[in-house]
Amino acid sequence: MRREFSAGGVLFKDNLVLLIQNSSGVWTFPKGVIEKGETPEQAALREVYEETGIKGEILDYIGEIQYWYQLHGEKIFKKVKYYLMRYIEGEPKPSWEVKDAKFIPVDTAKRLLKYKGDKEIFKKALELKQKHGL
Ligand code: ATP
Repeated sequence: MRREFSAGGVLFKDNLVLLIQNSSGVWTFPKGVIEKGETPEQAALREVYEETGIKGEILDYIGEIQYWYQLHGEKIFKKVKYYLMRYIEGEPKPSWEVKDAKFIPVDTAKRLLKYKGDKEIFKKALELKQKHGL
């Protein structure tokens, strides 16, 4: 069984949250594989920047989600750690890896998110956002 470890960010700019539309057409949070020698935090910041052009700063750890998927018949077990981030600079510009990248109002984002793990992470992120006075 193959395992993959990724890290990503739930990045807020006031009442907007940064989402990407992945290659499956699903709106989700930017994330990517943790490279050798990198901490999950470094990977999360790098992936948010690479996928969306947005620079953020980590305020807190939100939690980890897990799921299975199949690639060319191989079953892959994946874990993703998410971090609460605050906007620093940049305009959303989708990389070639994603179909779109946008700041979306929190209420709209709640409806757009499809993956069970994303919904859970977003709920926790909103609680932490309040806690940090974001
Ligand atoms: P990464 O962004 O970590 O580099 P990737 O783009 O190679 O990874 P995933 O985003 O994990 O791969 O997508 C692989 C498969 O898993 C796709 O079919 C995708 O739709 C599905 N998937 C992505 N995120 C989730 C999730 N949170 N819950 C369940 N399935 C997901």
